[in-house]
Amino acid sequence: MTEALQVEKLKNYINGEWVESKTTVYEDVYNPATKEVIARVPLSTKEDIDYAVEVAHQAFQSWQKVAVPRRARILFNFQQLLSTHKEELARLITLENGKNLTEALGEVGRGIENVEFAAGAPTLMMGDSLASIATDVEAVNYRYPIGVVGGIAPFNFPMMVPCWMFPMAIALGNTFILKPSERTPLLTRRLVELFTEAGLPKGVFNIVYGAHDVVNGILDHPSVQAISFVGSKPVGEYVFKRGSNNLKRVQALTGAKNHTIVLNDADLEDTVTNVIASAFGSAGERCMACAVVAVEEGIADAFITRLKERAGEIKIGNGLDDGVFLGPVIREENQKRTISYIEKGISEGATLVYDGREHISEEGYFIGPTIFENVTTDMTIWKDEIFAPVLSVIRVKHLKEAVETANRSEFANGACIFTSNASAIRYFRENIDAGMLGVNLGVPAPMAFFPFSGWKSSFFGTLHANGKDSVDFYTHKKVVTARYVTPTFE
Ligand code: NAD
Repeated sequence: MTEALQVEKLKNYINGEWVESKTTVYEDVYNPATKEVIARVPLSTKEDIDYAVEVAHQAFQSWQKVAVPRRARILFNFQQLLSTHKEELARLITLENGKNLTEALGEVGRGIENVEFAAGAPTLMMGDSLASIATDVEAVNYRYPIGVVGGIAPFNFPMMVPCWMFPMAIALGNTFILKPSERTPLLTRRLVELFTEAGLPKGVFNIVYGAHDVVNGILDHPSVQAISFVGSKPVGEYVFKRGSNNLKRVQALTGAKNHTIVLNDADLEDTVTNVIASAFGSAGERCMACAVVAVEEGIADAFITRLKERAGEIKIGNGLDDGVFLGPVIREENQKRTISYIEKGISEGATLVYDGREHISEEGYFIGPTIFENVTTDMTIWKDEIFAPVLSVIRVKHLKEAVETANRSEFANGACIFTSNASAIRYFRENIDAGMLGVNLGVPAPMAFFPFSGWKSSFFGTLHANGKDSVDFYTHKKVVTARYVTPTFE
């Protein structure tokens, strides 16, 4: 028997039990830090997803009628269980994704925050009313869940991104089918087990593992009302078009190429610390990672020198080991893709200041921090989302040029500025094309109660994930206009 045959084959979670997929096709799941096969994930079939939707549709009939405070109480229990299992969940994230344990713990915290927000469903679901819209006539706006919701998640945040979706959708009375990334399927098993332990009835939260066949099954099934997608731009665009064509609600949060602007008056050490954490944290596999720095000429030399020194101090290795900051990228193909981008950067004329290829090792899918300068906006390394620890630096004359450079990108997820000048901050806020802004901080990912609000090619749809947008996305409204004739009292 080969080693791959001995590892566990994952099952789908449908109707409160673990069920074997109808597929014969399984994909290996790796620990990217060791290349060890840690599980085998089914590439489930249309039959599997049809069964899950049928179950979720049935479960919706009763779950939608459960009183909102009762649903919220299950979310409170879930929050408690997640908090108790924080360390275990974080270790699973590091095992299957590769990010270091501190970052994994941070991710668990951000996931829990979403559950806390969703536990506010009784308040969030309140409608509004007007007691008098005409003589004896009033209007009341009620919110209702919409039905079965499908969630499609990426590999880079196995806990946080699914938690942007299912806790709120379920708290509001919907039932849910999650298709996690086939590259990071393990963490979600614990999520569903803990949610069940918290008191969630069977059929409300289902997991179907797989790839494009499952996605197409969700997109085409007539009983699926809405789809939350997070992943790359080409897939998000496809999901948005196919789902919308099938007359479903779709929100698709996609790729990024986030710019950071560093002005002459920025605090050098603090800025470098933040840029290093943003560009190379989670191996650059973050939709809010800093990919490009536009730095004003007056501080550029000092900034690049310090950036290079700090990159040299980064400890690379298995994220479970003490002091490791930079773990592996997710798969060998991502490592190879990153190397080809570095080669492209060199051949297109950028200056390689720090070469991450020196840290390629046979043990795992490692690639070191990489820094280019003299990057221009016609270069591939400026245009494409590399999604790896590769940072481009562009020298600019002033803030206006920096903002214009950033605005040329097709993406507009996040942008940051480092300065102590209030007028510059205001100019940046008013003129940058990006939906999530950071001032003197590196990763401006909003907390759960604000929308995750990418623009341009970073988002397809109208209502974003999180915040009040998520309440609108997962509910529909009924407005009752009623006349109550004023009684006469003799
Ligand atoms: P991906 O697009 O490859 O995969 C995302 C999901 O789509 C996975 O579940 C995958 O199985 C599925 N999928 C992949 N190819 C498909 C196809 N051809 N047809 C149907 N489904 C398909 O993305 P990824 O590599 O897992 O994640 C990285 C990407 O996610 C990056 O582009 C990153 O910017 C983006 N991301 C965006 C946000 C955001 O909020 N905007 C957050 C996290 C990640």
